[in-house]
Formats: sequence, structure tokens, C-alpha cells
Amino acid sequence: MLTTKGLVLRERSLGENDKFLDILTDGAGLLEVLARGVKKQNAKNASVSHSFCYAEYCLSESGGRYILNSAEPIRTFYGVSSDIEKFALANYFAEMTLYVATQERSNSEVLRLILNSLHFLTQNNREDLLLKSIFELRLLSEIGLIPNLIGCCECLKYTAPYMQFDLKGGRLYCENCFGSRDLHDVEILDEKLLHYVRFIALTDMQKLFNLNVPKEYLPLISQITERYAEIQLDRHFLTLDFYKSLQNG
Ligand SMILES: [Zn+2]
Repeated sequence: MLTTKGLVLRERSLGENDKFLDILTDGAGLLEVLARGVKKQNAKNASVSHSFCYAEYCLSESGGRYILNSAEPIRTFYGVSSDIEKFALANYFAEMTLYVATQERSNSEVLRLILNSLHFLTQNNREDLLLKSIFELRLLSEIGLIPNLIGCCECLKYTAPYMQFDLKGGRLYCENCFGSRDLHDVEILDEKLLHYVRFIALTDMQKLFNLNVPKEYLPLISQITERYAEIQLDRHFLTLDFYKSLQNG
């Protein structure tokens, strides 16, 4: 028997009545859980067997598989589905998390990050693009792919009017040190952008969502964190394409 807090990242239908739930737990990593009978009307566990439900799950283990016994909801983020753009973004967060989460790794900070992101997404008091940037870069930082943002990686200069962010190497170069390297995987950061990137990667989780970015910077910071995540993970997310198709539409 395992009792753990967790967030459902994905639900998959199984036959007429059952579901598989992918639950990111606080301490036990990512678990695939069989939820029996939850598609039936008035089923005991129906309300806690949807994506974006955060609950205390009581699971039993049988033949290497986890089975849902009962759950006590803590917070549900189902409201996110009432806005198609926010829903698309929430699904992108879930897909990225599913991609990086493993059963072995302790995911408590990643769980905290996605819970906070969903919280602010449903509160409507943060720009969606800012939440996207925070999630992308912070997720990478939490799983060990934090860029080296201390200063220019050659001469250690802390700041300059413009720095080059090498997305593949995860490091900064000042204008003097960059020379003639390949510019394909590079973003240029002015002092403000550098500050935002440093803030997202390095600041305490408690203060992370207090970041204030002027509107004109949002598309820039979004592009930087998105490219960094895509290049570092070497993975293209279809949920991101869907979110972006709504932006352009
Ligand atoms: Zn330098």
C-alpha cells in the first residue's frame, strides 16, 4: 500500500470502464496507475481520475502495477479547460513533465513547479507567455540542465549590454569572447533579458512567480526559453505546436 500526494498528468482510456492515470507523485516519481471502473457514472473515484487533479492517492501494488484504491482531492485545476489557450499550455506543461519525469528521480520540485504554474494559469493574474517561460527554463534547471549564467564562460564578465546565450552549450559569451562560432543555436540577450533568464533559473521557488516582465519582452523571453528547452531535450512537443497555432489563429 502506498499513500502519496500526486498530480494526474495524463489519463488514458482503457476499455469501457477503466483508465490508466500517469501520476507525478511527491516522492515516488512518476507512476502509472490503473483506475478501475472510474468511467462509470457515480463511480467512487471518478472525480479524482482526471488530468490536472491533485490529490492524496491511496494505491495498492499488485504484480508490479499500481491500482487506485481511493483518493482525497486537494486541489483540482479542471477550470483550465474553460479557456482553450490555457488548456493547451497546461497540456504542454504536462507533456514536458511526462517526458522528463522518471520513476527513480525524486520529483518534488518539479511537482511544485507544475502545481504553481497551473495555479497561476487558472488565477488569470500572470501573463500566459510568462508562465510558459518560467515553466520551460525552470523545469530544465530542476532536472539538472541548468545553464551556466554566472557570466561569460571565457572571461567571467558578469554583464554587458549584449551577451550571447549559447543554447546548446548552456553558457554565456560576451561580445569579446564569442568570436566567429556558429550562430545557429544562439540567442542575443540584452541586460534585461539576461536578468530575466537568471531570475527564472536561479531564484527561490517562492519568489519565482513574482517576476515582472514588461509586455514587449514576453515574446522574446518566450522564444529564448522555448528554444533552450527544445535544444537541450532534443525533443519537439506537439502540444506546443497546438498552443502556437492558437496564438497565430
Ligand atoms: Zn568574455
